[in-house]
Amino acid sequence: MDTLGFASHDHRHCISQALGAAEETCSAQGLQLTPQRRRVLEILLREHRAMGAYELLDVLRDEGQGAQPPTVYRALDFLVSHGFAHKIERLNAFVACAHPGERHAPAFLICSGCGAVAEMPSRGIAQAVRAAAGELNFEVSRMVIEAEGLCPACREARA
Ligand SMILES: [Zn+2]
Ligand SMILES: [Zn+2]
Ligand SMILES: [Zn+2]
Repeated sequence: MDTLGFASHDHRHCISQALGAAEETCSAQGLQLTPQRRRVLEILLREHRAMGAYELLDVLRDEGQGAQPPTVYRALDFLVSHGFAHKIERLNAFVACAHPGERHAPAFLICSGCGAVAEMPSRGIAQAVRAAAGELNFEVSRMVIEAEGLCPACREARA
């Protein structure tokens, strides 16, 4: 099951494409995509779902990499601050960005049935929030939009 867009796709292609894009962005901006950061991004891309820091740590340990929590947190900080991954506050978990490279306020659809997460286009939503905040003379610096509900598969299962 694909959980990033609630739609099936060529997943091997999407992992290599996203990793390639991250490498390009890093070399263009002089950022260090260290093996640890790259590995964490690769796991998030492979899993296509929201993962907590300790879950990532378990995967790294299973792979025989002696990662410590601070290492994973630093890797996640890097990935989030440069837009390769997002933090989903509601789940206290991380997910690979569905369209890295574009600056955007992430917007998530979170299925309360199976836990699947999809990142949806947010341009119109973010503009509406900025406009409403602006009327209160408030300047938005960071925003994460999260909506809970049922994904197509769970809706079908209940029908
Ligand atoms: Zn994929
Ligand atoms: Zn994104
Ligand atoms: Zn679901």
